Amino acid sequence: MARNTGPSCRLCRREGIKLFLKGPRCVGDKCAVAKRAYPPGQHGQMRKKESNYGIQLREKQKVKRIYGLLERQFKHTFRIAERSKGVTGLTLLQLLERRLDNLVFRANFASSRSEARQLVQHGSVYVNSRRVDIPSYTTKSGDEIVVKVKDAPAKRLAETHESLKDRLIPKWIEVDVKGLKVKITALPSREDVGFPIQEQLIVELYSK
Ligand code: SF4
Repeated sequence: MARNTGPSCRLCRREGIKLFLKGPRCVGDKCAVAKRAYPPGQHGQMRKKESNYGIQLREKQKVKRIYGLLERQFKHTFRIAERSKGVTGLTLLQLLERRLDNLVFRANFASSRSEARQLVQHGSVYVNSRRVDIPSYTTKSGDEIVVKVKDAPAKRLAETHESLKDRLIPKWIEVDVKGLKVKITALPSREDVGFPIQEQLIVELYSK
């Protein structure tokens, strides 16, 4: 599956906030956003007034980058949200949260979404006892997700979980660290997203 292979810190600098794309390395004073709080590139330090379109575009880019999607995948998810019942912006965020790679990340079995994606792609993740190696797979309420790995990697995953104990696990999932299991008990709510996102701007952008 296609993914962004450029430097992650550049993406954060472009959006002007820490997107935490590199897991534990994002904590501390080595973070590029902390060191150079302006967009990358030759003209990065020039101040310019953002147009309405520019603000909407930046919000979309930010969300795309948080979840590690490319434009086509993101737009596809938006179109599904648009066709679904309910509020499009919220449905979009729920679809992104319910992605299998995001779920592994939110359960603290991976320190970043890209690490979680790798676990899924390597065939280590099972949904309701069936192996699923598609990171974009949409999970649903009642699903049981199990990470099946050998003893040494399992120990590492439990250690990762322990090291991330300060990161809150959302209320819509239940995690069994010993069994490397995640149970989805509900749909994610707006508060569960845990990032400052103005989804309405994305809806406005794609509605033009
Ligand atoms: Fe973003 Fe800072 Fe992490 Fe780099 S270190 S990915 S700039 S949050």
